[in-house]
Amino acid sequence: MEYSKDLSIIVPLYNEEDSLGELLAWIRSVTEAAGYDYEVIFVDDGSTDGSWARIKELGEGDDRIKGISFRRNYGKSAALYHGFAKAEGRVVVTMDADLQDSPEEIPEMYRMIVEDGYDVVSGWKQHRQDNKVTKNLPSKLYNATARKITGIKLHDMNCGLKAYKNEVVKNIEVYGEMHRYIPYLAKNAGYDKITEKPVKHQKRKFGKSKFGMERFVNGFLDLLSLWFLSVFGKKPMHFFGFSGLLMFLVGFVMTVWIIVAKLVHQSKGVVYRAVTDQPLFYLALVAVMMGVILFLAGFICEMISRNSQERNQYNIKETMD
Ligand code: UDP
Ligand code: MG
Repeated sequence: MEYSKDLSIIVPLYNEEDSLGELLAWIRSVTEAAGYDYEVIFVDDGSTDGSWARIKELGEGDDRIKGISFRRNYGKSAALYHGFAKAEGRVVVTMDADLQDSPEEIPEMYRMIVEDGYDVVSGWKQHRQDNKVTKNLPSKLYNATARKITGIKLHDMNCGLKAYKNEVVKNIEVYGEMHRYIPYLAKNAGYDKITEKPVKHQKRKFGKSKFGMERFVNGFLDLLSLWFLSVFGKKPMHFFGFSGLLMFLVGFVMTVWIIVAKLVHQSKGVVYRAVTDQPLFYLALVAVMMGVILFLAGFICEMISRNSQERNQYNIKETMD
C-alpha cells in the first residue's frame, strides 16, 4: 500500500488555545529534524475559546497543517474518529493538545511501527504528572482491570500518545467514549502486534483537564460493553440463552420440589403449610421469571444482530486467486 505521507499527527482538542502555538512549534522541530514528510491534523472538538482561530492562523501558508472544526463538543472519540478518517500518513500518531505529551517520543514510536512491524505502539506515562491520589491510584486499578479483561498487557491503555499503522486506524471505529480502549478495538479487528513505550509526561501548563472521576465508572462500563461485543457480539444467544437456561432450570427444580412435597404430605392426610408460606416458592418464582427474561433478551439481541450491517464484516488480510 502506498501512502502520500510518512506521518500523520492527529491532535484532538477542546479549549486549548494557549497551548497550540507552542505545541506546533515543538512538533515541527521534531518532525523536521527527523526529515519526515508529515501532516498535522488538528480536530477542534467544538471549542468555545479561540482555538479554531488560532489553528487557522498557525496553518496559514503551510498545507501540512490541516484542521477540522466541530460545530459543538462531541468528545475525544468523535475527534479521533474524524482525524483517523482524514489521515494519509503511513504511520498515524495521536497526541493530546495540552503539552502533557512530548513530540520527542514520535521518532522512536515511528521506528517501532515501520522497522519492528508493530501495529500499535501505546505510550506509557511511567512518571505521571497529574494530581497524585485522585488520578494515579484509580488509574492503576483501572489499567489492571483492563489488562485482565482485554488480555493486552499495557500499563497505560488510555495514554493520549500512541502510534498506529495506517491500516489499523482505517479498520477500527472509535465511537462513544471508546477512545480509552483503542488498543482493544485494534485487537478485536485482528491487529494484535501491540506494544508500549515509556513516554515523558509533563504537567498541564495551560487550561484544565476535561475528564474527572466519572471517567473510571464510565470507563469500566465501556470495558464491559466492549468485552461483551467481542465475545458474544455475533452470537448473543450464547450468553443470554445459557444464563437463562440455568436460571430456568433452577426455578423448575424448586417448583417441582414444592409441588411434590405438598402432594406427598396431602396424600398422607397431614395438614401442611400453604405453598405460598415458604421462601422457596418466591425464589422459584423469581428464578423462572429471570430465566424467561434472559431468554427473551437473547432472542431480541439475535434479531438485532441479524439486522446489523456488521454481521458479516470480517477483516481480510490477504486473498489469493
Ligand atoms: N479533548 C477533546 N474533547 C473533549 C475533551 C478533551 O478533544 O471533549 C481533548 C483535550 O483538549 C486534550 C485531550 O483530549 O487535548 C485530553 O484531554 P485532557 O488533557 O483534559 O485529559 P487528561 O490529560 O486530564 O487525561
Ligand atoms: Mg491532559
